[in-house]
Amino acid sequence: MAKGAAPDHVVIVGAGFVGLSTAWYLQEQGVKVTVVDRGGVASGASWGNAGWLTPALTLPIAEPSVFTNGLKMMFDPASPLYIPLKADAKLIRFLLGFAWHSTPKKWEQAMRTFSEIGTSGLDAFDEISESTSAGPGVQETTTPANPFLTGFRTMADRDGLLHEFEMIHKTGGSVEYDLLTGDELRGIEPTLSENVVAGIAIKNQRFLNPPKYMASLAESVQARGGDIIGSFNVTDVRDNGGSVTVIGSEGRAITADHVVMATGAWMNDLTKKFGVNVVVQAGRGYSFTVKPEHMPTHPIYFPAQRVACTPLGDRFRIAGTMEFRDANHKLEPKRIEAIVAAAKPVYTGINWENRQEEWVGGRPCTADGLPLIGQTNSSRVSVGGGHGMWGVALGPLTGKILASQITGQSVPAVARHFNPLRKGF
Ligand SMILES: Cc1cc2nc3c(=O)[nH]c(=O)nc-3n(C[C@H](O)[C@H](O)[C@H](O)COP(=O)(O)OP(=O)(O)OC[C@H]3O[C@@H](n4cnc5c(N)ncnc54)[C@H](O)[C@@H]3O)c2cc1C
Repeated sequence: MAKGAAPDHVVIVGAGFVGLSTAWYLQEQGVKVTVVDRGGVASGASWGNAGWLTPALTLPIAEPSVFTNGLKMMFDPASPLYIPLKADAKLIRFLLGFAWHSTPKKWEQAMRTFSEIGTSGLDAFDEISESTSAGPGVQETTTPANPFLTGFRTMADRDGLLHEFEMIHKTGGSVEYDLLTGDELRGIEPTLSENVVAGIAIKNQRFLNPPKYMASLAESVQARGGDIIGSFNVTDVRDNGGSVTVIGSEGRAITADHVVMATGAWMNDLTKKFGVNVVVQAGRGYSFTVKPEHMPTHPIYFPAQRVACTPLGDRFRIAGTMEFRDANHKLEPKRIEAIVAAAKPVYTGINWENRQEEWVGGRPCTADGLPLIGQTNSSRVSVGGGHGMWGVALGPLTGKILASQITGQSVPAVARHFNPLRKGF
């Protein structure tokens, strides 16, 4: 590849939302793509998440209340936020950074960036649904939430979310919503219990079915000529000065013009030598599905309990918890029980014993709440990841930014906040 020219062939490590979206947008520029993953499509956080595309809730994690109210609950296995007592050096560095960024001033700064992103994440979903000269778009659709519901057991809990909406307005964003009584909420979703005393109906949000959407995105990438190779565990990436080689275990290797590391919560494993020093810590979340007697038709969020619920066809996905620990740690049944304990009082007509698809996945979290998107200290290696709670909603936009950078097109201005070589925790 000549210096400054667009690459002919890019290898993308990681077949999650970020990796496959990047592949899709590179194909728009006529680039051949090979996506490799140590599992297969959606082996990481992109499978069992809540599937929300909600600009109104796409906020930085390190909020001031986490440290004013949350410290005491952080070490309690039953709380929505959990940190094991034995923290390693990486986790300690992340937590220090998290505390540093949890001041009202820093939170407001991060909020400004999310307000700047606004609805451009949704626009990117519309773009990848379109068929173009490169081939068919993604067939699986996103669904308007009409409206997106939030529920509260106390009015004080509701005030917490209203305060966040005020901050969105203050930092240049906008949210449209209606306040609801508990009965009005039950009028929309009869499965909610009498314990829910108030709600907020948020307009202009969407959701998707993560497993179906990921399968459809992968189909689109393949139909446009891309290769997706599973069971390819990358152990090293070598810049050969003129090309770059991805080395897999079992002696496999692929050489290309450029590599994109879209490895989610495992981002730090292979990118340090390319100057990426920001910690990407797994904020592990859990989910499972149940079959309520009255199947809800709207996504529903309980912010105080940190429980996220999404209708997925004939089953209802319940997700929650933020467990800062090693991405490869096993599923802890106690965390599932904690979600059940939080969700049970706000629903009726659900057999909580009849759970299926119990799952754990690591949100790739950065201490400043902002993703890492762009070129590293090698002009042949880029990274995309670290979106924490919002890698689905921002996955296609991230792919668009990366593909524009790699092929020398103009890049959305908001990308200036996501420099992967930035200093800090
Ligand atoms: C419970 C829960 C609910 C969530 N709800 C939402 C939501 O409603 N909306 C939203 O926007 N976000 C949500 N998220 C966050 C979202 O799921 C993540 O931010 C997003 O999936 C990250 O995508 P990714 O492509 O960066 O990483 P991943 O999906 O984790 O993909 C990384 C891939 O890289 C592969 N990989 C890693 N290392 C290697 C290697 N060395 N060799 C080969 N392959 C490798 C992995 O196998 C994996 O498939 C939620 C997360 C959780 C846990």
